[in-house]
Amino acid sequence: MEEIIIIDKQKYINENYPFGNIPEITSEICCIHCDTIYKVEEYKVFRDEDGDEFICCPNAPDCDGTVIDWIPIG
Ligand SMILES: [Zn+2]
Repeated sequence: MEEIIIIDKQKYINENYPFGNIPEITSEICCIHCDTIYKVEEYKVFRDEDGDEFICCPNAPDCDGTVIDWIPIG
């Protein structure tokens, strides 16, 4: 997996978030894998050998949590 640097993180989320309610990048979420609270804008993006891109926990690659493991705070 190769990390991709995203310049406009809100735009990337708008275009790639897999669910209906697109979060603001300033909102707080909790990663259920590493139990860390962080802001959406701190996410990382990784691309695999097939070219698929994954929105991941800021603690990646130490944490294997992705966007589906985000729990909204508040
Ligand atoms: Zn995590």
